[in-house]
Amino acid sequence: MVIILDSSALFSMENLPEEDCVCPPGVIAELRKYEDRRLDLWGDLLRVSDCSEESLEKVKEEARKSGDLGRLSPVDLTVIALGLDLGGTVLSDDYSIENVCSKLGIGYKPVGTKGIKKVEKWNYQCIGCKKWFKEKMPECPICGSPMKAHRRH
Ligand SMILES: [Zn+2]
Repeated sequence: MVIILDSSALFSMENLPEEDCVCPPGVIAELRKYEDRRLDLWGDLLRVSDCSEESLEKVKEEARKSGDLGRLSPVDLTVIALGLDLGGTVLSDDYSIENVCSKLGIGYKPVGTKGIKKVEKWNYQCIGCKKWFKEKMPECPICGSPMKAHRRH
């Protein structure tokens, strides 16, 4: 099985799934920007692949229709487009990514079987892209906006 991972999936995982793990270049750039040490550990296991322009256009079109376009970063769009290109399963905890995947018939699943437990620990939210993180960071590793602490149930 081919698994396409977004940044939120990579940030919340302790270990890579034992599958063919693929990321668009933008996800690697986000990890690199945050100097995430997982990139050192996993760099060789992650396959980096560009999505096709055709799929990217399809994804944008679908996201526009479903109203998710404004909630998806350019990198998110390439994650979904890769799912379309590779016929893989997208691993993400982002609702908008899941929604667009479902509209396009792309397989998706939340991060890990302990997904709910993990989400409880995500107490910091980016005020820009609204993604959740479990640790406080000086700035959002995805879009660079400030983070805000939340008590999340
Ligand atoms: Zn952000």
